[in-house]
Formats: sequence, C-alpha cells, structure tokens
Amino acid sequence: MAVVKADGYGHGAVPVAKAALQAGVTWLGSCSLEEALALREAGITAPILSWLDGPEVDMSTAVAAGVDVGVSSVEQLRRLSGARVHLKIDTGLSRNGCPPERWAELVRAAAVSDNEVYAVWSHLACADDPGHPSIDEQAKRFADAYDEAVSAGLRPKRHLANSAATLNRPDLHFDIVRLGIAMYGLNPLAQPEDLRPVMTFRSQVALVKRIRAGESVSYGQTWTATEDTTLALVTAGYADGVPRLLSNRMEVLLAGARRPIRGRVCMDQVVVDCGDADVSEGDDVVLFGSAARGEPTATEWAEAIGTIDYEIVTGMYRPRVRRRYLGG
Ligand SMILES: *Cc1c(COP(=O)(O)O)cnc(C)c1O
Repeated sequence: MAVVKADGYGHGAVPVAKAALQAGVTWLGSCSLEEALALREAGITAPILSWLDGPEVDMSTAVAAGVDVGVSSVEQLRRLSGARVHLKIDTGLSRNGCPPERWAELVRAAAVSDNEVYAVWSHLACADDPGHPSIDEQAKRFADAYDEAVSAGLRPKRHLANSAATLNRPDLHFDIVRLGIAMYGLNPLAQPEDLRPVMTFRSQVALVKRIRAGESVSYGQTWTATEDTTLALVTAGYADGVPRLLSNRMEVLLAGARRPIRGRVCMDQVVVDCGDADVSEGDDVVLFGSAARGEPTATEWAEAIGTIDYEIVTGMYRPRVRRRYLGG
C-alpha cells in the first residue's frame, strides 16, 4: 500500500499514486475520505483505504466511491452500511484504533453487520527503533486481536507494517505493508538503506553582489563578513518551506559546491556566501535533494532543527512552489 496522505507527503498525491500503481503497488492509503475521493476524481480505480474521519463526514460517499474505511469503534461501524472495512486494533500507540477491552464487542458487531470485513490492522509506535520491546509486544497483541476476529467468524487479512517495519521486520509483513516515507526515498531507520530521495527542492540566483569585510547580512544583521565576499541572493524563503530556524545553519549546492547561507532566512529569500567563487544570476541552486549527488538533504534540515524529514517534505506543500515531475 502506497500511503499518499497529506498530498503524498508533500509530493503530490495523484502523481505519486499513479507512479506507485504503475510500479506494481496494489493499494493506496489516505488519511481522510476527502483525500481518497480526490484520487477517485483523478480517475484512480485501485483499492484505497481511508482511516481518519470524524463523525461529521458522510461515509456513504465512501461506499459509493468504493473506498475502504478504517474502523476503530462500534459507533464508527454503525455509521456504515454496505462498506468494506478494515478493523483497527490499538496495540499500543494509544492513538487511533479500538482499545483491546472493546475489541471483542467490535468484531462481534462487525460479523453481524452488513459491512464486509476485509482486514484487521494496527500501527506500530517504535518501528523506527529496531529492537524496541514495544514492537514485539504490539505484534503479540495484534496476533491476539486477529485470533479474536477469527473466533467471531471473520476471515480477515492483516496489515501492520509501516516503512520502518517493512524494511527491518519481514516477519510482520502479513498481507499488506503500508509504505509511506520510504517510498519517498527517505529512511526512517538509523542504519543505512538503499533509498533515493524523490523530492529535490531547487531555486535560482536572482542577484549577485560583492560586499566588504564588516558588512552584515539580512534582518537583525546576525552575520557579519570577516573578509570581502560574494553573496548570491536565492529566491526561496520560509513562505516556500525553508524553516526560519535554519537561519545561519544551512547550506545549498551552488556552482558546484556546498555553500552556507548567511543571516536570517526571510519570507522570500536567503543569502548565500560564495566567497570568491564565480557565480552568476540565474545559476541553479539546490536547497535539498540527494546526498549521493552532493546535495544537502531534507533529513539534514530536520536534524538541524530537531524534527524529522517527514515534516520537512510534507511542509513543501506550498502554492508558490512549482512541482515538476520527471521520468514521465
Ligand atoms: C502514515 C501512516 C503510515 C506510513 O508511515 P511511514 O512511517 O511513513 O511508512 C502507515 N500507516 C498509517 C496508519 C499511517 O498513518
């Protein structure tokens, strides 16, 4: 299952879904029904599981559009008729999912409802930390929940693994794995994996100038040149997904080398210190992309400001940032 929630982690849900299906993926995962319906409107007919909507959402639309629904409670089940559902057990994340105490009631209600139970599923809390004891504990609770569903007369499929568990816990793959971040080429594990980041964030040099030692750069004048240097003004700022927290703390790839930005990240622009390098207006600038090409990465940005690369790429859903898809 290709997870394309949050507009495909900021990459564009429809193009990602289409590429994933072309590559052999058989399921799509979305957070809300609205996201699932957008995929249907784009002509995508593959199975879609949608798992997080409040009671205000009219779920009959899911049935009409042939969208599978994640169900975590008897109340949610009662709002559905004629739907295909995936019953979700909370095995330790304490977020979505049915608490174990209410599971027997849910599977019994599902067994006699007019909905088809396709699968039993759950979500892991610490799969990115291999060996964390919660993983086996969740797997055990998941097995118990499955047995209870079978005892209630159901014959469901099972899915549990996110990207991290897909990469390092083949014993937890069951019938479907739900791949998010790894599909976008970002590694949720500390150990190296052979993944290539899908998203490259680029801009260009709008202006080049020389400043003298002692001159300062950007709002608050937080950086002062110690020698004469060449500055390149690059059109990308916090309105385009460059966290302002990266002020004085990031590099870009420009004119063949990684070069530091100086001073604060502004709404629309950053200033890059090019030393005595030969740079020109119009030069291509890579803000993040692939380490294999010598570019800074979304993961590096995340680590610099104490977050995860998921948040960086998902935060690239910005009207001002144009998306271009390569490779057909
Ligand atoms: C987001 C999500 C995933 C994908 O997680 P990754 O860590 O990006 O692979 C899988 N399952 C559920 C329920 C999710 O919400």
